[in-house]
Amino acid sequence: MSGLSTRSRWLRVALLTAHALPTAAIAHAQTIRPDADPRIATLVAAVSQPRLQATATSLAGFGTRSTLSDTLSSTRGIGAARRWIYNEFTRLSPKLQVSYDRHLLAQQGRISREVELVNVVAVLPGKSARRVYITGHYDTVNSRRPAGTDATATAGGGAAPSQPLVRPTINNDADAPGANDDGSGTSLTMELARVFAESGIDFDATLVFVTWAGEEQGLIGSMAHATALRNAKGVVEANFNNDIVGSSLGGNGIIDGESVKIYSLGPEDSPNRSLARYVQRVAGTYVPSHTIRLMAREDRFGRGSDHSSFTANDFPAIVFREANENYERQHSPDDKLEGMDFRYLAQNARVNAASAASVALAPPAPRVTTNGGSATIGRGRSGYDASLQWQPSPGAVAYRVYWRDAWTNDWQKSQGVGNVTQLLMPNVSIDDYVFGVAAIGADGNESVISAYVSPVRKMTDVLLKK
Ligand SMILES: [Zn+2]
Repeated sequence: MSGLSTRSRWLRVALLTAHALPTAAIAHAQTIRPDADPRIATLVAAVSQPRLQATATSLAGFGTRSTLSDTLSSTRGIGAARRWIYNEFTRLSPKLQVSYDRHLLAQQGRISREVELVNVVAVLPGKSARRVYITGHYDTVNSRRPAGTDATATAGGGAAPSQPLVRPTINNDADAPGANDDGSGTSLTMELARVFAESGIDFDATLVFVTWAGEEQGLIGSMAHATALRNAKGVVEANFNNDIVGSSLGGNGIIDGESVKIYSLGPEDSPNRSLARYVQRVAGTYVPSHTIRLMAREDRFGRGSDHSSFTANDFPAIVFREANENYERQHSPDDKLEGMDFRYLAQNARVNAASAASVALAPPAPRVTTNGGSATIGRGRSGYDASLQWQPSPGAVAYRVYWRDAWTNDWQKSQGVGNVTQLLMPNVSIDDYVFGVAAIGADGNESVISAYVSPVRKMTDVLLKK
């Protein structure tokens, strides 16, 4: 099969590249799969569990980081927290462009008064403007209700979008340490900013590390940012959002430090689902001891996080969630450091690091639609073949076509096709299989797969004779 000869060619490319690397990188490369990029393996190995723990400890030390808490104190509240995050980003590396992303909010929903909402952003510029986001929310909330009131709404860990928004019982200056929600995602984001900036790798994509505010008031900080980005015609390749990824002990007593869940908004071949499948594949190469459990839904039942601000603006996004949550600790004074498992958080950080580095080093995912949005797939001249076309992806030296039975979720077959932008598969039905294509760069890194999606049928109104 031609796929095999293509693959062995990539192996040779990888081996030739390895000769130019420093000794330490080669020593590491010998312990990983031959199809792995040794630079990514080295970057993944640089994730530091002690640093994650130190960062989460500092964050929990601000007492509360509620978006509506005090901003003047230097030791407590969201103002002190965001200044500390800003200074940490700045201190980590001169390569990071650090800024406050400020939004002055009117009173609305769970925002009980006018307030300045501030996201903290660190940008690691790449060779191109396309962006890969790694994010977590640094704000916290203590929404624990007085004893004796109905706990049903908080048993699931918080407000569903349809719930009444302002809760007069909330004290925004009460303890809300948020060690896990979302000190875990914030620590992960800050650690990856360090690891990527110090890697010395010249990424094609621009890496953007953001810690959001206003998540607990309805994803407001991320929505303000993503909406502005879309209006500015920004290009986002991926958003890896992390919210509650630092504990391996569930509230039900079940311990699982070996798997993590990824939720992604459908339909089944949405860019979000493609991104989720991509993480599962990349993690299998670089963090094989960790299991990725893909969830074909936007998020946990009735709950949400900042990835939805990206998908709402047509940017591909997923959210990582720990294997077994403890809902009792969330949004309460009990979300403390003793509930954390930093070995587990480090594993989740490594999965993020490998996936984001792969996306950022690979060419952009090929475009498989016309400018008008129609999928560039047909039945060929015979009327019974699979005829695929795609637009050339900048930096690609080859492509790989994937397909699967239409009643499955994961790609089943693939074939490397060299540096071409079309493929004819005789007598393969485009009605029975789903097809996709990925771009491969000179260093062997592969993009997210772009799937050919059948358009949603537009029904016509039936005109009845009067
Ligand atoms: Zn959260």
